[in-house]
Amino acid sequence: MRPETRKPPHPANVPGPFYVELDHCTLCTMCEFAAPDLFALVDEVLGAWYVSKQPASKAEFGRMKEAMRDCEVDCIRVKNCPPDWAARLRDAGMGGLIDSVEGEG
Ligand code: SF4
Repeated sequence: MRPETRKPPHPANVPGPFYVELDHCTLCTMCEFAAPDLFALVDEVLGAWYVSKQPASKAEFGRMKEAMRDCEVDCIRVKNCPPDWAARLRDAGMGGLIDSVEGEG
């Protein structure tokens, strides 16, 4: 978790709280292993994975959380995170990947 290196979201991410940062993905493919239904590759040339589907269930959030945990450069982040999911991320020591929480100032 290195806030000073935080980058904006890649434009390919679908709208919603979870995103992969622009120009940060190293193509390690850990997100593909953890959540193949939630991530896709922009293209082989540009070389970046992005969030192709926002988690919509507890099970999908669990896979997103695994991808965030396994990403080797911490480039999968969340903004306006639903409070219950933010609590689970914080409990897992992943609070540094949260930009903001829904309803928190
Ligand atoms: S886990 Fe992170 S660095 Fe690895 S491919 Fe996915 S977004 Fe890129």
